Amino acid sequence: RPAAEPILRIDEVSMHFRGLKALQEISMTVNAGEIRGIVGPNGSGKTTLFNVVSGLYRPTAGRVYLADKDMTAASPHVLARKGIARTFQNLRLFALLSVRDNLLVALDQTSILSNWRYVLWQAGVWRHDQSLRAEADELLQRFGLTDFADSAPGELPYGTQRRVEIARAMARRPSLLLLDEPAAGLNGEEVRQLSEIVRSIRASGVTVVIIEHNMGLVMSLCERVTVLASGRVIADGTPAEVARAPQVVEAYLGD
Ligand code: ADP
Repeated sequence: RPAAEPILRIDEVSMHFRGLKALQEISMTVNAGEIRGIVGPNGSGKTTLFNVVSGLYRPTAGRVYLADKDMTAASPHVLARKGIARTFQNLRLFALLSVRDNLLVALDQTSILSNWRYVLWQAGVWRHDQSLRAEADELLQRFGLTDFADSAPGELPYGTQRRVEIARAMARRPSLLLLDEPAAGLNGEEVRQLSEIVRSIRASGVTVVIIEHNMGLVMSLCERVTVLASGRVIADGTPAEVARAPQVVEAYLGD
């Protein structure tokens, strides 16, 4: 393997909401090609960290680097173009569009929703070009969604909706994919499928950072795990290392 190169470097990031210190001088580095887990009790700052990295929040202090570029407080739009894609804890799919159209919207990066093409598209006057449609079909197939292409996401089982959200994030062709609790609400079989999907995403060259409460999944999937508690990094290492760290055991007992 070539020497590990950082794709994401978080340097002393703090995020305060009035008096509340959601993140306190967080530093961590994610190498290209890694599957990194982020765990921690509720309220420990995990989603806030994703919000900072994906540009939704401007950190109170500290810097965020993507590869070597300082991306601190770049807009979500710019960060998406630079290769960061994410999913949300609560699904955010377009409810009235079919699964295929949800993917087409993401594949067509020219902000289709804000212009007339969307109206024309909805009216059936304008169609996505063949290459985009072919790419959508490829994504549908890759994520086991071909049979659901014409369904509205809301009609589908929850685990399938989660796959749609991941497929949609992948439609942006990211280099770094942030997954916020992707296993929440999934049954055992769906968790197993999710695990395969994350591995295949990494195999395609995408770095994955995953916030997850399902410890079995984190332990089997992630090479390294970063543990947050009260907005601080309290441990960082292999799953086995962090699982036996006394400060981690203590943080979870207090949860
Ligand atoms: P986790 O994802 O680990 O459960 P969060 O990052 O969601 O934790 O929250 C960390 C802390 O920051 C919580 O106390 C939460 O209430 C607070 N917080 C998160 N976002 C905001 C916000 N936009 N405004 C005020 N407080 C926030």
